Amino acid sequence: MRHTHDILIAGGGLVGMATAVALASGGLRVAVVERTPPPSQLAEGFDGRVSAISLGSQKLFAQLGVWERIAALAEPILDIRVSDADSPIFLHYDHREVGDEPFGWIVENRHTRAALFERAKDFANLELLTPASITGIETTSQSAIVTLADGRTLSAPLLIGADGKHSRIRDWAGIKAHTHPYHQTAIVCTIAHTEPHHGLALEKFLPIGPFAVLPMQNNQSSLVWTESHERAEMLISLPDDAFIEEITRRVGTQLGEISLVGGRFKYPLTLVHAESYISQRVALVGDAAHGIHPIAGQGVNLGFRDVAALAEVLVDAKRLGLDIGAQPTLQAYTRWRSFDAMAMVATTDILNRLFSNNVFPLNAARNLGLGLVGKLPGVKRFFMRHAMGMEGDLPRLMRGKRL
Ligand SMILES: Cc1cc2nc3c(=O)[nH]c(=O)nc-3n(C[C@H](O)[C@H](O)[C@H](O)COP(=O)(O)OP(=O)(O)OC[C@H]3O[C@@H](n4cnc5c(N)ncnc54)[C@H](O)[C@@H]3O)c2cc1C
Repeated sequence: MRHTHDILIAGGGLVGMATAVALASGGLRVAVVERTPPPSQLAEGFDGRVSAISLGSQKLFAQLGVWERIAALAEPILDIRVSDADSPIFLHYDHREVGDEPFGWIVENRHTRAALFERAKDFANLELLTPASITGIETTSQSAIVTLADGRTLSAPLLIGADGKHSRIRDWAGIKAHTHPYHQTAIVCTIAHTEPHHGLALEKFLPIGPFAVLPMQNNQSSLVWTESHERAEMLISLPDDAFIEEITRRVGTQLGEISLVGGRFKYPLTLVHAESYISQRVALVGDAAHGIHPIAGQGVNLGFRDVAALAEVLVDAKRLGLDIGAQPTLQAYTRWRSFDAMAMVATTDILNRLFSNNVFPLNAARNLGLGLVGKLPGVKRFFMRHAMGMEGDLPRLMRGKRL
């Protein structure tokens, strides 16, 4: 059968676009179908989040020619401080304990999106179909066939579902998912402050959920502030001065005087984990495979590790003249990614359950744990390298090597 493309990608969010650029750079003919076109995705008010881009993800972007468009806009994370509410015991990670490179960089999602859209334009073998929605799929032993809302059909040996937590591709492919609502909403906003942050990322575990302060450029920081749905609604509708007062109560005085920059965003939090990352002629990446709690700032990094592993498996298969959508190729991908993803799903879920409460034996154990990790250099180093995305069986692109 003649296919329209080598690979179809459903979803042109951060993970879908990174997948497209990686596969196009490996010589595959790729089509991305995305319902929200770039100008809308880049508009103010679309996504107020930043992402902590780990060292591993930075290496991937550097190999793909994306990092050079982000570097000047990225703020390095030099230290991380984790504390349990206002307890005097805290865990301090200093990047110099594991080398010269920062733990990662804080980058506004809109800058990463813009860099990926720009880089995609360099490839004649990458087609971005947008605005366009997928309304159905059909898979056979040879092909994945996608139908768009305007009636067009596309076909390829493989369809990649990068269509986010509420993935329809996952459903249509018959893949079940485990879903667990956290009963928490993350409030996200940007603050400007009069004192410098010195590249320090703060994470405070408050009884209702984590409160993170992430260093950005120009004496600004991004807040990821977890509350119950009801309190989040109430806080978001406060007038500016009362909202800033609530922030100052949590941040303390170390950043000096605080003011708000831009809007307030809210994200209800849910865990979604697909029971399988593949089915006939379909592979899932990013939040479509595993949408996790933002407690460790690792969701999109996990997705970028899927991208690097899947691109390596598919490009190698193509070079060897193998069928890129056949089960043995897809099984190689799922074998590679399952352990890392499962471990991150479990870790973030357990951390959130352990820290987001005020139960006596647990808060005592937490403080003991924080104090203990700080005193065990081997354990601490392991956690630091993990946060940097430099542990485990890393794909070539994340080791700074060509695809
Ligand atoms: C508050 C918060 C803070 C976070 N902070 C961090 C952090 O610091 N570090 C980190 O690593 N991660 C972080 N994350 C996680 C990260 O944001 C997500 O993992 C990431 O955005 C997922 O990207 P994605 O491309 O997989 O999915 P999405 O961003 O959901 O993209 C899916 C795309 O598919 C498109 N689509 C869906 N269905 C269709 C269809 N039928 N047809 C056409 N297009 C379709 C959508 O329009 C969308 O563009 C955070 C998450 C939250 C909620």
